[in-house]
Amino acid sequence: MDTHTRYTGLIEHYRDRLPVSETTRLISLGEGNTPLIQLQNIPRLIGKDVDIYVKFEGLNPTGSFKDRGMTMAVTKAVEAGSQAIICASTGNTSAAAAAYAVRAGIKAFVLIPEGKIALGKLAQTLMYGAKIIQINGNFDAGMALVKEVADHAPVTIVNSINPFRLEGQKTAAFEIVDELGTAPDYHCLPVGNAGNITAYWKGYSEYSTDTATHKAVTDKRPVMCGYQAAGAAPFVAGKMVDNPETIATAIRIGHPQSWDLAWNVQKQSNGWFDSQTDQQILAAQKMLSQYEGIFCEPASATSLAGALQDIASGKIPEGSRIVCTLTGNGIKDPDTAIAQCKDAVPVTIDASLDAVKKAILDNI
Ligand SMILES: *Cc1c(COP(=O)(O)O)cnc(C)c1O
Repeated sequence: MDTHTRYTGLIEHYRDRLPVSETTRLISLGEGNTPLIQLQNIPRLIGKDVDIYVKFEGLNPTGSFKDRGMTMAVTKAVEAGSQAIICASTGNTSAAAAAYAVRAGIKAFVLIPEGKIALGKLAQTLMYGAKIIQINGNFDAGMALVKEVADHAPVTIVNSINPFRLEGQKTAAFEIVDELGTAPDYHCLPVGNAGNITAYWKGYSEYSTDTATHKAVTDKRPVMCGYQAAGAAPFVAGKMVDNPETIATAIRIGHPQSWDLAWNVQKQSNGWFDSQTDQQILAAQKMLSQYEGIFCEPASATSLAGALQDIASGKIPEGSRIVCTLTGNGIKDPDTAIAQCKDAVPVTIDASLDAVKKAILDNI
């Protein structure tokens, strides 16, 4: 008997908790099932007795958590007979939309802000062959245009205002509970449009109930902590921000689409929103690379930057079990990474044994 089970994506894996039927054609690239890595060196470095895990979503097929939402959104778009999808994007949504559209055999249109998209994300979107519409405006302007144009053209919006996006994304919480055996005490996330923090809360909430009996199996859900970049922090300001600015381009958003939903998450989970400067975000990104061997993109490191600040202040107490979502892969933004490591850029030496030997002995 064949005892191997091939992992074929999160819809197949969590089918009983997702809106698909036996006959639904699943559009999948094997997304989900990402590693939950316990940090070993950073807790020691900060001298605190905390368990910190990172959910490394940068290891999804297109390198970000957007794939979780996109497999579901494109599956449902195709099921409904749609021939084209559209999104506004700071980069990762466009890469995911483009890839899943190829997989489905439909067209993808993506609106991106000129010059404010990380190089790797642009490369991906070009390679997958999406129709890129570059606008002279930021994400928020693009999002407003996408909502308008969808009323005038036969295209399905696949931004996180599409409810199927959140359905797919909630499975990350399922995976964490499956792996830890219970929900963590705190869950930390970077917040842009706030779809993901909403999706995780939905996931933790649904997983605390048995699907067959509808009875509660646990009342444990985490405190949800949402962190924003200081220059793009509408949840901290308590109002929309018109000219958001941050090096963490994936969360350079001033008008979050899931505003009310995310405030409900904050209230229900007794959580909070806070912000981090670009400097703190980049420091956390580098720390993860240099002390743990984990390379995430700048926006992703906002979750750890926030957690470290709240651990230091005692707001997150010692003895806590914390999960930080690392939303995307560091390889997507090589420019920001290289600019951060100016001092480590290699000098060129002679191609001789003596010169190479000296380079080693000088640095050992
Ligand atoms: C999309 C994205 C976010 C923000 O997620 P929201 O659901 O918009 O809050 C954070 N980090 C990365 C890398 C992203 O691509």
